[in-house]
Amino acid sequence: MTSQQIKDLTHQYIMTTYGRFPVAIDPGRGATLYDPEGNAYIDFTSGIGVCDLGYGNQAWADAISDQAKRLGHVSNLFYTEPAARLAEILCKRTGESCVFFANGGGEANEGMIKLARKYSFDKYGKGRSTIITLNNSFHGRTITTLVATGQEVFHNYFFPFTEGFRYADANSLESLEAAAGDDVCAVMMELVQGEGGVLPLDKTYVQAVKKLCEEKDWLLLADEVQTGVGRTGKLFAFQQYDILPDVVSFAKGIAGGLPMSGIMANEKCRNVLGPGTHATTFGANPVCAAAGLVVQETLTDAFLEDVQAKGTYLRNQIEALHLPCFGQTRGMGLMIGIEVKDGCNKSEIANKLIENGLLVLTAGPGMRLLPPLVITKEEMDKGLAIMKETLG
Ligand SMILES: *Cc1c(COP(=O)(O)O)cnc(C)c1O
Repeated sequence: MTSQQIKDLTHQYIMTTYGRFPVAIDPGRGATLYDPEGNAYIDFTSGIGVCDLGYGNQAWADAISDQAKRLGHVSNLFYTEPAARLAEILCKRTGESCVFFANGGGEANEGMIKLARKYSFDKYGKGRSTIITLNNSFHGRTITTLVATGQEVFHNYFFPFTEGFRYADANSLESLEAAAGDDVCAVMMELVQGEGGVLPLDKTYVQAVKKLCEEKDWLLLADEVQTGVGRTGKLFAFQQYDILPDVVSFAKGIAGGLPMSGIMANEKCRNVLGPGTHATTFGANPVCAAAGLVVQETLTDAFLEDVQAKGTYLRNQIEALHLPCFGQTRGMGLMIGIEVKDGCNKSEIANKLIENGLLVLTAGPGMRLLPPLVITKEEMDKGLAIMKETLG
């Protein structure tokens, strides 16, 4: 089909929940995508932080196809090897104790919220179920994770929302203490706020929150749906902060493009979600887990150091361009935010760059770059040249 035919068919038959860029994509190779007419696009988006191995990765495609031919799905009523092996690797590389696999970020966060409330219920009974989240956060699109999201604009249309969330300002221990109370069971945060605009939390703040949680027997819940799986240059962002959260959610990059997510819990929380308390039909799917194993094999410590180096390179080069609409950059590893100056429009900028062959994202008040972790220097330089040409 041509791009136009794909667009027309989409408009006719798919709900209009997305404001799409006017580009159809097929196929991709490395960090370069093509439209059906053969035009190339350098990809600084990874399908929103998902395709960490880029496109057309041979080992990844082989693992998926081999596993699909052996066993595509059998449910969690039986044991399967790929998920067990993936869980072992995640625990050994992070110091967490056990994993529950699900399918998407919002669903993983629902599981994390359930775990926190049940931990408290088992120990203290009812009335201690409030979770403090941060202003400007993003935690998902289910009824409960929408209200966990600390942005008023998401608390609309779908009333009534779930009770039991309060908000505190990021990087302010005073604000967190003001939100405290006998009804609290947990604090939930993204260590680098993603959708909110790529805003890393301060290390001293995160460590102080961890300490406060220990004092009050609140669980510290890290939403690493976007920051996890190598994005920040460590396997998980909490490893940049030298803390071990009680529960960590992950999703986007875990299987390199197949739908998979999950939560990891520490030893204290290992048995909170016992038999019958939580489940999901597709969770721990063997094909997704086989893809996840290839991601883990690729993300060696040396590879992750290289992710940090690539992120530094990209940020330095962008700042050196001194583009009239761009201010400072921020972020961690290959999760990069660019400040957009007053008078410039982030959506217009994104559209212009895409028109000229560079795919980018926006987040909060600025631009957001999430390139595939395997992006080459040559591809980064091509992207930078398009930026200079389009916005210089
Ligand atoms: C993307 C994202 C989610 C939601 O994930 P879905 O897979 O879209 O449900 C939740 N939290 C964070 C931090 C995210 O970036």
